Amino acid sequence: MAIQYSTRIDAAALASLEARLSGDVITPAHPAYDTARRVWNGMIDKHPAAIARCASADDVAVAVRFAGEHELPLAVRGGGHNVAGTAVVDDGLVIDLSAMRAVRIDDSRRTVHVQGGATWGDVDRVTQPFGLATPGGVVSETGVAGLALSGGVSAQRRLHGMTIDNLVSAQIVLADGRTVRASADEHADLHWAIRGGGGNFGIVTSFELRLHELGPEVFSVNVAYPVQDAARVFAGWRDAVAGAPDELSSAAFLWTLPVIPDLPEHLRGLAYAGIDGMWAGDPAEGERRMQPLRELATPLLDMSGRASYLDEQCALDPFFPPGLRYYWKALYLDGLPDAAIAQTVDWTARRESERTLVVIRHLGGATARVGVEETAFGDRSSEFMLSIDATWDDPADDERNIAWTRAYWHDAHRFSQRGKTYFNFPGLLEEGDAAVRSSYGSNHDRLAQIKGRYDPENRFRLNQNIRPAH
Ligand SMILES: Cc1cc2nc3c(=O)[nH]c(=O)nc-3n(C[C@H](O)[C@H](O)[C@H](O)COP(=O)(O)OP(=O)(O)OC[C@H]3O[C@@H](n4cnc5c(N)ncnc54)[C@H](O)[C@@H]3O)c2cc1C
Repeated sequence: MAIQYSTRIDAAALASLEARLSGDVITPAHPAYDTARRVWNGMIDKHPAAIARCASADDVAVAVRFAGEHELPLAVRGGGHNVAGTAVVDDGLVIDLSAMRAVRIDDSRRTVHVQGGATWGDVDRVTQPFGLATPGGVVSETGVAGLALSGGVSAQRRLHGMTIDNLVSAQIVLADGRTVRASADEHADLHWAIRGGGGNFGIVTSFELRLHELGPEVFSVNVAYPVQDAARVFAGWRDAVAGAPDELSSAAFLWTLPVIPDLPEHLRGLAYAGIDGMWAGDPAEGERRMQPLRELATPLLDMSGRASYLDEQCALDPFFPPGLRYYWKALYLDGLPDAAIAQTVDWTARRESERTLVVIRHLGGATARVGVEETAFGDRSSEFMLSIDATWDDPADDERNIAWTRAYWHDAHRFSQRGKTYFNFPGLLEEGDAAVRSSYGSNHDRLAQIKGRYDPENRFRLNQNIRPAH
């Protein structure tokens, strides 16, 4: 069968791009094409005209100019984990940074420099031998870039803030191919915008993130309670974490125990109410202070204990494999009244797939001590974030899982006056401009101005798109 090339660009032009890159250009004729166009979410099945797998910041600049010259739709790939699949595009150019994963500590500044295609595992592996960490994702294969640009909710969030609060500077390739540094002193408007504004403003080839002492050992809570006790467990957790020290970041969730030989047979595949959390400080104190979270009802299973931070950061990896079908949507809640807990329990009991996870993360602490206008992210007053993580494996079930998630998400707005969503769990970004405006709130117009300055033609639009103001 003949290989279908793009309708927008011919093979000769793509060959000329390849000649200018030190990295590779992967076209439909390339043996790696089918692997390279896949992202973490198995529902996403896009066919780019080409994938420019860049090896350097210069490559990224060349590829951006090329896409501009040929008016190709442009997608940017960091770790490829965004559930909406915005890292790939049909019949356009993917600028793929997955070969740019270098991580380097700057001792004198107590920061870490991270290339734009690195994963959180790459970062933790370099920083942890020095007992240092920067707050990132809780699954090691998740990309730094997407997560860091739209917020960043980590296991130590209440002590060290969101990832964006630790973003000291960034090297960015702009829509016209120029490279600039954004920090408090250089292009400060851009530095403000990328702390929450996502991939709207350019391609970050290198992040500089602040480091904190943490680990190598931490105390973590991980308890499974009977699902019948879910409402009591969630309410007990809410009360226990009210006014908790910043060292304690935790979540309450509803999920299904895996069917694995390590579990006693009677627990395999059982629905449960879970509490997990980490103490970002002395493990002995953590064990003492987190004890109440282990006594909210009679546990089915208590896997709490001391572990290395590095192991903790990989512990969830097996539960989120690439290739399954995922539709995740989030909402910041006004609070967690009993009625919101009842709603969580009720909707989750009716979920379409047993793989689906529903989680309420406790925020506050350092994440809330940053003013609305200090970063593009905007309002941080919500103490709880609901995330509905629908997960299933049969394409025939797509429609009903998505419909269930959306119905639940809409209903949950009863407990979310602002209706602010978290763009790292965006579903398929169906709400478009309306969600962008409501979620950025009073920061939206300033973001649109900055977008107009740096990307007036809206080249970087496969994201929570902020329309440029002209
Ligand atoms: C298993 C799993 C666990 C997760 N855990 C967490 C968590 O603990 N905390 C949390 O906050 N979020 C978490 N997330 C959500 C995560 O933050 C988003 O999925 C995020 O988009 C992933 O970043 P990525 O680089 O892998 O994404 P990609 O899909 O590669 O990119 C997403 C978007 O980011 C932009 N982008 C990517 N790279 C660049 C770049 N170099 N420069 C400019 N723009 C770029 C582009 O607009 C792109 O469309 C998790 C997601 C998954 C799938």
